[in-house]
Amino acid sequence: MPRVLIVANRLPVTVTPTATGVEVQKSSGGLATGLLRPHEQSGGLWIGWSGATEEELSTEQRAALTEQLAAMRLVSLPLTAGQVARYYEGFSNGVLWPLFHYLLDQVPLHVRDWEPYAEVNEQFAELVARHYLPGDLVWVHDYQLLLLPELLRRRLPDARIGFFLHIPFPSEELFRTLPERDRLLRGLLGADLVGFHTPAYLRHFAASLTQILGLTVEIDRVQLADREVRLGVFPMGIDAESFGAMAEEPGLEAEVRSLKEDGRLRLLVGVDRLDYTKGIPRRLLAYERLLEAHPELRERIRLVQIAVPSRTNVEAYQEFRSTVDQMVGRINGVFGTPRWVPVHYIYRGLSERELVALYRAADVMVVTPLRDGMNLVAKEFVASRTDGDGVLVLSEFAGASWELPEAIQVNPYDVEATAESYYRALSMGEEERRSRLAPLRARVQTYDVHRWTATFLEQLATCTRRKPESRQALAGLEAAKEELLIQLRDREELLALLDYDGTLVPYTATPELARPDPTLLELLSALASRPRTELHVVSGRARETLEQWLGSLPIALHAEHGFWSRLNGSEWISAGDTGAGWREPALTILRDITARTPGSLIEVKSVALAWHYRMADREVGARRANELRLHLTQLLSNQPVEILAGHKIVEIRPYGINKGRIVPPLPPERLASTTLLAMGDDRTDEDLFAAVPPDAITVKVGPGATHARFRIDGVPAARSLLHSLVQAEVPR
Ligand code: UDP
Repeated sequence: MPRVLIVANRLPVTVTPTATGVEVQKSSGGLATGLLRPHEQSGGLWIGWSGATEEELSTEQRAALTEQLAAMRLVSLPLTAGQVARYYEGFSNGVLWPLFHYLLDQVPLHVRDWEPYAEVNEQFAELVARHYLPGDLVWVHDYQLLLLPELLRRRLPDARIGFFLHIPFPSEELFRTLPERDRLLRGLLGADLVGFHTPAYLRHFAASLTQILGLTVEIDRVQLADREVRLGVFPMGIDAESFGAMAEEPGLEAEVRSLKEDGRLRLLVGVDRLDYTKGIPRRLLAYERLLEAHPELRERIRLVQIAVPSRTNVEAYQEFRSTVDQMVGRINGVFGTPRWVPVHYIYRGLSERELVALYRAADVMVVTPLRDGMNLVAKEFVASRTDGDGVLVLSEFAGASWELPEAIQVNPYDVEATAESYYRALSMGEEERRSRLAPLRARVQTYDVHRWTATFLEQLATCTRRKPESRQALAGLEAAKEELLIQLRDREELLALLDYDGTLVPYTATPELARPDPTLLELLSALASRPRTELHVVSGRARETLEQWLGSLPIALHAEHGFWSRLNGSEWISAGDTGAGWREPALTILRDITARTPGSLIEVKSVALAWHYRMADREVGARRANELRLHLTQLLSNQPVEILAGHKIVEIRPYGINKGRIVPPLPPERLASTTLLAMGDDRTDEDLFAAVPPDAITVKVGPGATHARFRIDGVPAARSLLHSLVQAEVPR
């Protein structure tokens, strides 16, 4: 088994400073239990914050802490109180938490904690990289560390990195409200495997990649320029066996009886951290409604609500606490009697034994979060019911709901319906209760937390570190510059064949906006006047546009992928008659698809037709482009044309007209004295790369598959490359 490095915001410990040093206690909890096995069995490390800020510990205490943690194979990431307030409470819990739970109104009006968030993620990356050994599996957890996979990838290009999100991934439309949405998505794409609790969260993430980054997701994987990222659904389970065993402990039965006042009371039980996502206020309102609608239940039922204190430093949580306190007080005040308290409210954590006793005592377990990544309480209740009885009322918006469909599912926002679901649960006959619970138990026992960790790590282990062909990653800008200069020493003639859009100028919303800026004109002019230099610009554009934009420069122009050519100021020459019988039928289809795809447009050239969809909705655009290609292929199957998919463009053009045509014939003596540079960003530029001699310097601009020898970042890099040619010394 490879060594596993677990990276999470928190270490599974509680640290208490003492007079002589520190006391470190292991903490239990779902994640800690699940990860214990791989942590111990693989001899790995767990890296995270200890929970004590730097200010809380003296130098001696810090040293003692590090030593004690090391003995447990834990590595602590130090955080100052300021970082905790901003990275953890500010951005993670103040922004990402509510937003990912669909509670946009809880996000502060003006967010200022991004920088510390990014900074702590960097610190994590440094620390993990320091402890990483080749072959390790790195498993990063949760929303506090969304940037970490990418920061690690930069430092450890060959590492296998997994990420699991323990909270929901919101719908793309909510996610895109985050100003840093791009960076967060790219952060996650540093991983080889990104895991979610439910298929819906995966879908939302995939939609964000498509709509925000323009990436194509194939069900469970995303192809990047140099790697593949896999997406997976891994619903987290619990340690079902241990809950089952606790439920069978002797003495528990007596405790259960006393909680139910020897059978006089039937119990509804809620167990949550006191968090506004958990739906406690509406749960209370629904309970109140139940007492109003069914007065016969008064003095015969009780709601026991455990609220575990949580994030008490965050203001929203302080206000929330008093809201809940008041509601409980009001219901007890209105409905209580001298013999009966309707809501038994406990604001503290319980021991595991107390918790299991409550699960066992519950006639109805009410789990009604407004939104919850998974909700382990629902599963713990099911696992504790070794007696095979009890009813689970479960919110549709808990991640657990797709795995537990036999529960009574409710919409927690519908207070009336929730009240009715309580009633239905209380009135359900034993046979139905048992037959609903049995499949729930089977599922919770099978897909337990150990299976969850094992499945995730198995998948991560099978991720090939890098795709074989990208092992020799293409050399970049500096390498291309160097190679050019070396070749120019022996071969003094320079022949440069340059694509226009996406290479010399960035893509713009509409094609006519991409006119050359003065800096580009100066650059091209300087390059063209370099001695022994021949400069060609080739584009898919119409010749009028090229003429108008670049016609005054002493360079060769090629329009419509080389159908039209104009050498240094001479007349335009065409490649000949290509037949036009296909144009009208093709145009009809293009007009139809343009009408149905807002943001798309048709470009009519003298021989070719192009359909642009850069401004269209990304998903719709991509789908329509596929549809269009299919349709055109059928329609034009017996015509001498080819249909090409480019960068947000579908183009129909006569056969044999491609950018490869523009490479001038090079007799051997000229070839021997010529340094040839070909540069482009698009699929159509591959024709150019294919038509030049193998030792030509072919440069792909941007991501995507290519046969070029070099890859550079974008337009600025392309210009920088040309600039270096202008500056290069020319041998006399
Ligand atoms: N829990 C606890 N002490 C308590 C009540 C609950 O430790 O007094 C545990 C509970 O057993 C469960 C976890 O807290 O494992 C809550 O997990 P869940 O997924 O339901 O919600 P989260 O708090 O992670 O949002």
